[in-house]
Amino acid sequence: MTKTRQDLAWQELEIGATLITPGNSCEYKSGDWRSIRPVVDNKKCVRCGTCYIFCPDAAIHETEEGFFEADLYYCKGCGICANECPTQAIEMVEEEE
Ligand code: SF4
Ligand code: SF4
Repeated sequence: MTKTRQDLAWQELEIGATLITPGNSCEYKSGDWRSIRPVVDNKKCVRCGTCYIFCPDAAIHETEEGFFEADLYYCKGCGICANECPTQAIEMVEEEE
């Protein structure tokens, strides 16, 4: 029977314990690491796209209305978007249990 990664002992895991193959980072739900998340106040947003540019995880996308929001599947809650937003439209809020 073939072992899956969940069956492996820690000594058998790859260095870094992460299976890395080209282009597979989208398979990892990095949003699970988050304890705070960004919330955009569209009344303050001037749709400049600065948050989109600065997000290190490319977790911000533009909505059909031209506003920006975080994809919580990938957002790690680093707060860089909130820090860089020129109008303070992004507030970092605690995740609920
Ligand atoms: S940086 Fe702030 S003002 Fe600019 S698009 Fe993002 S949320 Fe809106
Ligand atoms: S909190 Fe960090 S990871 Fe999440 S959307 Fe903002 S810049 Fe990107």
